[in-house]
Amino acid sequence: MATIVFDHITKTFSDTKKGGLFTAVDQATFEIKDKEFLVFVGPSGCGKTTSLRMIAGLEKQTEGNIYIDDQLVNHVHPKDRDIAMVFQDYALYPHMSIEQNLSFGLKNMKIEKAIINDKIAYASKILGLEQLLERKPRELSGGQRQRVALGRAIVRNPKVFLFDEPLSNLDAKLRVQMRIELAELHQRLGATIVYVTHDQVEAMTLGQRIVVMNEGKVQQIASPQELYARPENMFVAGFIGSPAMNFIPALIESNSQLRMAEHVFEIPINQREQVTPYIGQEVMFGIRPEHIHLDQEGDVDIRVNVFEHLGAENLIYFTFNNHSVIAKVSGEQFIRPGEQVKMTLQMQKMHLFNLETNQRIG
Ligand code: ADP
Ligand code: MG
Repeated sequence: MATIVFDHITKTFSDTKKGGLFTAVDQATFEIKDKEFLVFVGPSGCGKTTSLRMIAGLEKQTEGNIYIDDQLVNHVHPKDRDIAMVFQDYALYPHMSIEQNLSFGLKNMKIEKAIINDKIAYASKILGLEQLLERKPRELSGGQRQRVALGRAIVRNPKVFLFDEPLSNLDAKLRVQMRIELAELHQRLGATIVYVTHDQVEAMTLGQRIVVMNEGKVQQIASPQELYARPENMFVAGFIGSPAMNFIPALIESNSQLRMAEHVFEIPINQREQVTPYIGQEVMFGIRPEHIHLDQEGDVDIRVNVFEHLGAENLIYFTFNNHSVIAKVSGEQFIRPGEQVKMTLQMQKMHLFNLETNQRIG
């Protein structure tokens, strides 16, 4: 069992540049479930590492309570929290063999030799390190070194694994491979994993649930599917998805009609109730690139500015109502710059946001 609860956690640091206090984490409240793979995602500096370090006990929160398995751990020493943390830079001992790197922590804990050997055999089997135990870290590839860092956490058999951007030093191909290995590892270990990344693709593929953070504040906690389909505010809407959602200001003319300059679009029936309070007002209309169709049958004439062929899909850049818009179409649809086509917005997939609060409407 390992559940983790953040109850109104705030962390401030003294601001060395401006003086005063800087809030790195602001009133964060959430619960991590037993055996869950939970991912923290957000731009650099949003408070991800600080949150992880508070779970580990390496950083003390300024306000609020942290519970692990219903036990208040505010004053529990990191060593006594039964948590293992894996960092981005692996932090292996260069002069030690892989086997020594794996056993070092356990020896310090005065664990019996036979038990240590069993644990190393188990971890190296899971991670495919059996043939590498005699080598030194410098004799391994980046991916293998990352696996050793993982192995060091696994041999400790902790209640909770914390990962701080563990894949960010690997090249793109290896990252994808390690991502799959991590997902498999989670199933095999049946452990609670809290994983930090700034990469929304990593978050979406690994997380059972995702905590989106920005400027120290939790923006939304939801499954990948829900974050994609129902982002709660414009930050989440723009952060999750690639390329990012298009935003265009629009006027709600009636509960069934939305106007963008001279173009009028029909509001889907299931959204009409939610837009009623906004009739006569400007809102922000959001549509993902994959929900724009370009062909000869569409509603609105546009002219293509830039075309990018990515293989399985193509990106089409154009201007609509003086706003830059990106459409993602099939890799077989070639539309050259300068070409005129017609655009159809898949209105069922639209997102509307309140211009003042940036919060989702409906
Ligand atoms: P992330 O991991 O999301 O990139 P961090 O949690 O490392 O962000 O940092 C959040 C903010 O807190 C940053 O602005 C960072 O500069 C600041 N910060 C982190 N640690 C300290 C510290 N020990 N002293 C002062 N400011 C810090
Ligand atoms: Mg960080």
